[in-house]
Amino acid sequence: MTELIEIKAIDNHAHSISSDYLRVRAESDFFAFLTESSQPRMKEMAGRSLNAELLKEELCRSFDVSSFEDYMTVRAGSSHEHLHKLFDLASLETLLIDDGFCQGFFELADFASICGPDRRIYRVFRLEALFEEAITGEDTLQGCLTFVREKLSNLSTGAINTVALKSVLAYRGGLSLSDKLPELESFGDPASLPEADYTEFRGELLKSRRIDSSHAPLYLLLLGEAFRFAKGAHLPVQIHCGLGDDDALLEESNPLKLQPFIRALSRLAKLPKLVLLHTYPYVKEAAYLASMYEEIYFDLSLCSFLAAPALSQSIKEALAMAPYEKLLAGSDGHSQPESHFWGMFNYRSGLAEALQGCQAPLREKIAESVLCRNASLLYRI
Ligand SMILES: [Zn+2]
Repeated sequence: MTELIEIKAIDNHAHSISSDYLRVRAESDFFAFLTESSQPRMKEMAGRSLNAELLKEELCRSFDVSSFEDYMTVRAGSSHEHLHKLFDLASLETLLIDDGFCQGFFELADFASICGPDRRIYRVFRLEALFEEAITGEDTLQGCLTFVREKLSNLSTGAINTVALKSVLAYRGGLSLSDKLPELESFGDPASLPEADYTEFRGELLKSRRIDSSHAPLYLLLLGEAFRFAKGAHLPVQIHCGLGDDDALLEESNPLKLQPFIRALSRLAKLPKLVLLHTYPYVKEAAYLASMYEEIYFDLSLCSFLAAPALSQSIKEALAMAPYEKLLAGSDGHSQPESHFWGMFNYRSGLAEALQGCQAPLREKIAESVLCRNASLLYRI
């Protein structure tokens, strides 16, 4: 563990934090990030778990205080220096921020300035929000496709560089695309969708405001457009898999449901690099896909702070099958900076534990690969 702390980590999937994070006083409010539940009772119980108790112990040790109440007092009287200390303790040097989930959070530019000049911040761009904007604003399919192309082509002009795209298909009807294979054969071909169908889907979307699998031909067409762009621009596409909130059914987030899609596009040489995010509890499944298809990468974000006591076992399962060049580090931190800290802290301790049987040079080589080098090469940062 001691040697691993010197490796500066790249967190390949995280979010910004609550704009009032330093004003959180009650334990029950603070620990709400340790559950994905929206039920008030579950949020209140989140602090009473093995995971929360281990986090409390580590925070007290790291900040040299004798009780968690003291930690909360230190925190409340602090400034953004507190976030710097947490991120330094986890050697968290670079963060890829998905700003598509940001209610009550600091805007990306503000979060970057809070993180300071010594930390690198990059943006991950949500595709579904773009698709919805394009369909809402454009009354022809051609206009919609042009809008999507232009927006994607201009992503690199912002102050914060965009290094990946992201799809939340799992939240929009699930990853079961296998029953949509007829559409896959013409994946990304505008001729596959008659203008009248576009008008009909657009009419539905103007009411629901959300694109989902009930608009499968249009959704797949726009994903095809985005994938073509991503492949040409060497931008990886992150895909939500595994655990998340109950807007998605966990079973529909099993990455194996993507295999027909992955296999078909890989054979057609139409598949950009995909990063299967979170993947827990389907870690073995994700590791299998990453061992089969060169385009597939994966991480254990979210699990890294939400199911921390299981992380070393998950890292073992991941590395048991997939090449270590395919596993990435991620926190999926959000709301409180302790989530980013806890996610990356556990990646280090989990790697140290999972690689116990290795000699030090091999342990360091694999840890460096997972914590930093793989993301650096994949996202070209
Ligand atoms: Zn996330």
